[in-house]
Amino acid sequence: MTTTAVTHIASLVTNDPSLGNGTPLGLIQDAAVVIDGDRIVWTGESSKAPATDNVLDAAGRAVIPGFVDSHSHLVFAGDRTQEFNARMSGQPYRAGGIRTTVAATRAASDEELSANVARYLAEALRQGTTTFETKSGYGLTVEDEARALRIASRHTDEVTYLGAHIVSPDYADDPAGYVDLVTGPMLEACAPHARWIDVFCEQGAFDGDQARAILTAGRSKGLHPRIHANQLTYGPGVQLAVELDAASADHCTHLTDADVDALGQGNTVATLLPGAEFSTRATWPDARRLLDAGATVALSTDCNPGSSFTSSVPFCIALAVRDMGMTPDEAIWSATAGGAAALRRTDIGRITPGARADLVLLDAPSHVHLAYRPGVPLVSAVWRSGQRVA
Ligand SMILES: [Zn+2]
Repeated sequence: MTTTAVTHIASLVTNDPSLGNGTPLGLIQDAAVVIDGDRIVWTGESSKAPATDNVLDAAGRAVIPGFVDSHSHLVFAGDRTQEFNARMSGQPYRAGGIRTTVAATRAASDEELSANVARYLAEALRQGTTTFETKSGYGLTVEDEARALRIASRHTDEVTYLGAHIVSPDYADDPAGYVDLVTGPMLEACAPHARWIDVFCEQGAFDGDQARAILTAGRSKGLHPRIHANQLTYGPGVQLAVELDAASADHCTHLTDADVDALGQGNTVATLLPGAEFSTRATWPDARRLLDAGATVALSTDCNPGSSFTSSVPFCIALAVRDMGMTPDEAIWSATAGGAAALRRTDIGRITPGARADLVLLDAPSHVHLAYRPGVPLVSAVWRSGQRVA
């Protein structure tokens, strides 16, 4: 294997609290990282770095772990510019706009869908995302959902079956029949291509009983649950997520004190998706309240053509710091280690020996600049599995 050292890193985020300054970010000043093949093999002070085959001088810039974007919807076709434009002209967001994308996605070829996924992935990679989860949910037939998952699984291991995104328009008069389809033949066809099962538990989508039936059925086929919960209104989603040991409850915008307590005490990560609130002019989720209750918080893009058409984790970090009560340190942690926790992964989201060599070099002396300089393209190099990819 070829070894490479990145040296003279002004500030290195390791996400190992036993390193560096002892905070959750485990910050090391004037640091170096050594990569061997696809793994990190050493981190520490630059002056103590071991000899390697190659050396890259970071020249006083910051290095952070690659972002782990644990929530996106990238298998789609079509465009919803007009809907966004109308919303920004005063119309409220409702779950039903998904139908527009369903029609376009069904009509698209496999090649078009795959090219779309690849395009948004490349866009995310340039902005520092080295791991992403993505979902089905714009097919809503047995064949179209299985197709979306097959396509997604060519691009990532973190694939989620979301046949329960909305009730298919084909079942508008028979939502119970659609739940039977999602938990029966559709699940049968989709389970081999997915790791996770998700449901949009919301007024206008699926209620708590339907969501429980769907997630329980998925679990019996070896899929682990995650939930779109409490985005537009208060509801049973968060409690259900904790009850079923879901890896993540996503959105968490409208929470009761009992919801916050449940997330503070359970193993379920609260994944906040501020791109959605930004793009729908909705109330921000209160990250501070969750963090103060002891919840593990992840930050993710929710990249999708309807309610959050951004692939930029740095943008979400800036929103979380400006509008959701997070410190810059907390936001960086949530977008890296927090995303890894939401995917129940320990091999990513940190820069410590044994971790996958996913690194982002910033054109800045500190990770704080991601919030301090919003909208500025600070990502200057990206390594994934030890390969320089952007
Ligand atoms: Zn979503």
